[in-house]
Amino acid sequence: MDLRYSDEEEAFRAELVEWLDEVLPTVGPPPADQNDWEARRAYDTAWQRMLFDQGYAGINWPKEVGGRGASPAEHLIFLEETERRNAPYVGVMFVALLHAGPTIVTEATPEQKAAHLPAILRGDEVWCQGFSEPQAGSDLASLRTRAVRDGDEYVINGSKIWTSNAQVADYCELLVRTDPDAPKHKGITWLMLPMDTPGIDIRPLRTIAGSDEFSEVFLDDVRVPVANRVGDENDGWRVAMVTFSFERGTAFVSEMLASMQLVEQLAAAAKQITRGSGTAWDDAGLRRDIGQAAADLDALWALVKRNVTQASRTGVPGPGGSVFKLHYSEVRHRLGLLGERVFERAGLAVDDVAGMSNRPHVEGLLHAISISIAAGTTQIQRNIVAERILGLPKDR
Ligand SMILES: Cc1cc2nc3c(=O)[nH]c(=O)nc-3n(C[C@H](O)[C@H](O)[C@H](O)COP(=O)(O)OP(=O)(O)OC[C@H]3O[C@@H](n4cnc5c(N)ncnc54)[C@H](O)[C@@H]3O)c2cc1C
Repeated sequence: MDLRYSDEEEAFRAELVEWLDEVLPTVGPPPADQNDWEARRAYDTAWQRMLFDQGYAGINWPKEVGGRGASPAEHLIFLEETERRNAPYVGVMFVALLHAGPTIVTEATPEQKAAHLPAILRGDEVWCQGFSEPQAGSDLASLRTRAVRDGDEYVINGSKIWTSNAQVADYCELLVRTDPDAPKHKGITWLMLPMDTPGIDIRPLRTIAGSDEFSEVFLDDVRVPVANRVGDENDGWRVAMVTFSFERGTAFVSEMLASMQLVEQLAAAAKQITRGSGTAWDDAGLRRDIGQAAADLDALWALVKRNVTQASRTGVPGPGGSVFKLHYSEVRHRLGLLGERVFERAGLAVDDVAGMSNRPHVEGLLHAISISIAAGTTQIQRNIVAERILGLPKDR
């Protein structure tokens, strides 16, 4: 694999950079209130619409479903340059663009693709993920939300938890149990649930960082057309594995690139913050650990390039995404702790230190804890690496 970019790919970069430099000054910052979900939806979907109008939506999606059909290298260039220029984050479009959409591209019928993919690419459809339940997180296959067939509809009863962005989503990628008598992995079905269906009750939960980004979702006799099923009835576990491979494979790449900027900001802050008669940067141990974090992120970027190249051969990311997710969550946590060492006591409050905002570091530290849980915990990623890459015996 050649990790350098070709002349054509660099030409793609130049065209993209020219457009970004032109439009980004007109976009403005994201809404200040992180819990103003309508404003966040409006901001994130407006950016998606701008990407769509310029031909950059679904950068790596196939052309036949409305994507750009860009090469893996161009996809990475897109991520690099949008992140480097602080373009808006994918935000509430995360599930739609990064794993529900790609699952629909791979698994859905032509009618289902036509109904959803153009709307997602335009930023008109926001999705959430209804997989986890109170007793079914890591052991997802033990989920109990029931769907009973009634003519052309499924009638759903049960509850979901940790559903990110549920309060602004139009659709939910929902896992339900359709055969309670089958072995647990064999009785599950993957459905597209319109979030305005009667019988859905959304109750936001508050995180340690003060955000109500995820919710409990209660489903009481919710009726969904059978036509909303992706894949066969009781084949939902296989479809969910496709969803996971996208979620772990590339969904965290922009965040990782943003972490590279955080390392640079930390180094700059350390050089300015007074400590004793010098600055925090005089601490050789701190300098070494900041350097280590920068090196780890560089190594992760090389891993991303490898994973994306491999995924482009099969169309679906492989278990390499688990290696990335595992390492990224560890590096991100160490980076959060490094922020604390740079800002010291001031880093415990969201405040300005030496004229700089420490907000990204405080919020980053709190957020880092959840990264090792979201999309499958660190322990579960280790099991996947052990079983699927190293070929060790099954956990259970
Ligand atoms: C920020 C955030 C956003 C999320 N968004 C969504 C969302 O939008 N939609 C959604 O469906 N879910 C979402 N989740 C839920 C997430 O997928 C689950 O929290 C995760 O899968 C863990 O499940 P659990 O919380 O039930 O923990 P448990 O499965 O109960 O795990 C508890 C502990 O036991 C360990 N453990 C469990 N089984 C094993 C094993 N076999 N071997 C070793 N250790 C094990 C785990 O690693 C963990 O440390 C989100 C979570 C977070 C933190």
